[in-house]
Amino acid sequence: MTGPHAPLRLRLDQAALLSNWRWLAGKSGAAACGAAVKADGYGLGAREVVQRLVAAGVRDFFVATWAEAHALREVIGPASLSVLHGVGAEDMDYAAGTAARPVLNTPEQVRRWRETGRPCDVMIDTGMNRLGLSAEDVRAGALDSLAIHTLMSHLACADEPGHPMNMGQRAAFRAVAEQVQAERLSLANSAGICLGERYTFDLTRPGLALYGGIPVRGDAEQRHALKPVASIEAQVLQVRRVPAGGSVGYSATFRAAADLQLAIVNLGYADGFLRQLGQAGHALAGDARCPIRGVVSMDLIAVEVPDEGSVGEGDWLSFPLDLPTLSDGAGLTQYELLTGLSDRFERRWT
Ligand SMILES: *Cc1c(COP(=O)(O)O)cnc(C)c1O
Repeated sequence: MTGPHAPLRLRLDQAALLSNWRWLAGKSGAAACGAAVKADGYGLGAREVVQRLVAAGVRDFFVATWAEAHALREVIGPASLSVLHGVGAEDMDYAAGTAARPVLNTPEQVRRWRETGRPCDVMIDTGMNRLGLSAEDVRAGALDSLAIHTLMSHLACADEPGHPMNMGQRAAFRAVAEQVQAERLSLANSAGICLGERYTFDLTRPGLALYGGIPVRGDAEQRHALKPVASIEAQVLQVRRVPAGGSVGYSATFRAAADLQLAIVNLGYADGFLRQLGQAGHALAGDARCPIRGVVSMDLIAVEVPDEGSVGEGDWLSFPLDLPTLSDGAGLTQYELLTGLSDRFERRWT
């Protein structure tokens, strides 16, 4: 018996994913290029992303939590996996029994992990004031005689190439790295890679750009090189004619100026297609651009389609995920657009 039919799909393009990774690996120069696959591979499906990247030779992956690491245990193969949130007291039993490495963020986490004698990564805070040990912690000896695989820091403003934080954080990271024994150094996320080889050190950690996000919107090279990986397809549940003056959806926010043809589609904000995308997004019926009408409901949206008969019940409409354009139009980040995609989508790789 086959399972139930899914009336909405995420189309996922393996060639685009691998092409994006290769471009980032090229930009990383001599550094190894890994992949951030937290938040279920930025909403695309971490297992499927990791399988494809491992097969393409990627050997360094990053997740946020041990639950995310656990979900990848069967696909990680020979690659290494780092858990960015480190190791809390409740994580120790699980963490000490797996090959994944915690990225230690506090002196307390270091004390906890040191007793295992197992390798680890360490995050240094160089001015973002998010996770990480401070330069003072390091000077005070917090990392002495710890077996560190990768020493890393994270850039706060890399998507603004001229921002003074970038050079400041790089200098602060180098200063700490000189005092610490570690096999590898890592600083750059997607946007950091695009800052150039002064930022790539031994290992890079792209996320967004792998999945088709554009780190610096106005950068023509990035727009040209990075390919969209995901697009939405949703099925039409009903087609109806709305007479001039008729309203559409909750609160009757849209009124038809003239008779129009409406398709009601199986897609809504609970799928991550948020209310703001009602304005910024559109559907495609073949090549025809179809505006969204009325507010986005939880599981449904209404789309104006060309003529009677052009779209029928059971047909599929596509919703392109042009991330930078949707992000500008909807006031949502490219990250939010991707990571909100729900598990109601059937994820189909081609
Ligand atoms: C999420 C994350 C990345 C990836 O960042 P992108 O901007 O998506 O490329 C890299 N490093 C750390 C520490 C992260 O939290």
